Amino acid sequence: MNEDYYELLGVSRDASVEDIKKAYKKLARSLHPDVNPDPEAQEKFKHVSQAYQTLSNPDKRRQYDMGGRTGGGFPGGFPGGGQAFDFGDIFEMFTGGGMRGRAQGPVPRQRRGGDILRRTQIDLRDVVFGAEREISFRTAALCERCHGACAEPGTSPVTCTQCSGSGHVQRVQQSLLGQMMTVAPCPACGGHGDIIETPCTGCSGQGRVPTERTVTVKIPSGVENGTRIQLRGEGEVGQAGGPSGDLFVELSVAPHHVFVREGDDLVTRLEIPMTAAALGASIPLETFDGMQSVDIPAGSQPEDEIVLAGLGVTPLRRERRGAIRVELDVEVPTKLSDEERDLLEQLARIRGEEKPAAQRARRAGKGVFGKLRDRLRDL
Ligand SMILES: [Zn+2]
Ligand SMILES: [Zn+2]
Repeated sequence: MNEDYYELLGVSRDASVEDIKKAYKKLARSLHPDVNPDPEAQEKFKHVSQAYQTLSNPDKRRQYDMGGRTGGGFPGGFPGGGQAFDFGDIFEMFTGGGMRGRAQGPVPRQRRGGDILRRTQIDLRDVVFGAEREISFRTAALCERCHGACAEPGTSPVTCTQCSGSGHVQRVQQSLLGQMMTVAPCPACGGHGDIIETPCTGCSGQGRVPTERTVTVKIPSGVENGTRIQLRGEGEVGQAGGPSGDLFVELSVAPHHVFVREGDDLVTRLEIPMTAAALGASIPLETFDGMQSVDIPAGSQPEDEIVLAGLGVTPLRRERRGAIRVELDVEVPTKLSDEERDLLEQLARIRGEEKPAAQRARRAGKGVFGKLRDRLRDL
């Protein structure tokens, strides 16, 4: 069906959410299956509802406007087909109450357990090699007394007399639109169709009990700051033996005092003396693989990079490790002793790099340098 949603609802393309809601309500009053049993109207109502679901949601509307198909329609047709679909929002307009389970019969007691989110801090070493963490959290576990049945062992739930086990009751209401039949969850059994007269004493009839759990989480190498690891079924056990939720562990990576991660590489800056840059040197560096030596070739320049291959991060689902990259900072001395200055002056002279200022100083202070040299010779 490729009807235009805006046309279906009879609204303009720039209609506000309020307008869309109003238009939908108006249409629903004549098409809703509770007031109009005509199959054609039901079919139309299905499409109108789909249009409303899409256009009343800003994200879905944007997607629709851009020509994308939207999910969240009616996967299995209108209720009666046995497909579960949350009609809460739509039916609330008519009945002021939920009609969930109307077509499915009694509402099962089983409910999926909640998800749990825990945060944990890891350091860069854990990112490089992967790690394990013990995560403790409060959760819900299956009641060992009733195993999720909710009834005291030896007893069973009895069928609700008010709804004869169907879980819902029908009411005829007078409204502005005339007589309207509404279906609501049975208030006596909460829509379950049966009543637990003797709740389990171990869990007060919940089928689960609060507990403290600790699980060991494997953290793969190469994870990013903010990564969430999902452990399926490790969350809360569901109500009345329903399926368990998931456990999510969110990782935050603590900053490291030496290395910064860049992709699979670890980067650090190393300050070396001017002489080491000129003459070359071998400088020890503590890495996650122990002490390594950074070999600086003679004639290294500021910002030069020394690469230590294979000592970086092992990327997720890959074997080959990144590198450590050492960026060089060349330190130019700011305070020189007389001797150092003399040697540098000599060097500058030999290399023909004397600055005009230095030449002037030498001419003026010849005696000083001369005396210095004499004194050095005497030592
Ligand atoms: Zn129990
Ligand atoms: Zn009932």
